[in-house]
Amino acid sequence: MIPREFDYEAPTSLQETLQLIASGERKLLAGGMSLIPMMKLRLATPDSLVDLGRVPGLNHIVESSGTLQIGATATHHDIETFPLIRGRCPLLAEAASHIGDVQVRNRGTIGGSIAHADPAADYPAALLALEAQIRLVSASSDRIVPAVEFFLDAFTTALEPGEIVVEVLVPAEPGAEGYSYEKAPHPASGFAIVGVAARIQRSGGKISLARIGVTGLGARAFRAMEAERLLESGSSLDQAVATVGEGEDANSDLYASAEYRKHLARVRAKRALEVALRRAS
Ligand SMILES: Cc1cc2nc3c(=O)[nH]c(=O)nc-3n(C[C@H](O)[C@H](O)[C@H](O)COP(=O)(O)OP(=O)(O)OC[C@H]3O[C@@H](n4cnc5c(N)ncnc54)[C@H](O)[C@@H]3O)c2cc1C
Repeated sequence: MIPREFDYEAPTSLQETLQLIASGERKLLAGGMSLIPMMKLRLATPDSLVDLGRVPGLNHIVESSGTLQIGATATHHDIETFPLIRGRCPLLAEAASHIGDVQVRNRGTIGGSIAHADPAADYPAALLALEAQIRLVSASSDRIVPAVEFFLDAFTTALEPGEIVVEVLVPAEPGAEGYSYEKAPHPASGFAIVGVAARIQRSGGKISLARIGVTGLGARAFRAMEAERLLESGSSLDQAVATVGEGEDANSDLYASAEYRKHLARVRAKRALEVALRRAS
């Protein structure tokens, strides 16, 4: 339960941070909510921690041309409570409110959470449903990756060595959209056994857009695209949710078998869609 000895570096600019993590066995430290427990268990043994806490310009939350730009070190609490996010992207605020407890939400950051890519984390479902993008920067590159291409596997993302998440880009809600995040929390850890984020737009009494992100079911969060397609082509909720998790390799553990997780994902997807539909009308 005691981490291996490590150095600690606290850069004061993004440039300095990028230079540091370009070399050596270094790890970025954001809220430390996932990294420090991993170091205590010696699942991570970095030579040095590079603290993002003193790097300016990484915790912004602003709107520009209909897109919310959320800095990597914005905390879960910031995202849950910031009026711009509550007003213009309430699905993300709702997902943030489900994360851990007050202490975890005060320390943990969106950049740390998505870089860690825990299969049971809450943000990935919401970011997939929101069709968010993630900006990744290294000493020699600056690129934007759609969320659907970012979460690759358990604890595995599109981040390349030397890259850091600098911000998450989320389209601001157009106004008449319905949304919901429904989570079945693990009774001990509070992480999602499954979590489903739904986003709905209606037009002329029909569903014109449906987006569904699912977390916790398998190794990585995913979009339930067949269910989205069925909803957009006039199928019933029951027909659509019956396809959620089809073809996915579901996790199975002491708390939930693969079969039960799939059942739970469909039940939560239906609830999330019902709430989103109500809110969209
Ligand atoms: C008791 C407890 C309960 C929790 N419950 C939940 C829950 O219900 N739902 C949920 O989603 N999460 C939960 N979490 C996890 C929490 O959300 C963490 O905050 C999050 O996973 C990691 O964020 P962090 O800022 O603490 O990152 P850190 O722990 O500092 O870092 C995590 C990893 O990301 C890397 N990293 C950090 N920032 C960046 C960056 N900007 N760019 C690239 N790499 C980076 C680090 O090097 C490290 O590998 C819980 C954690 C605890 C301790």
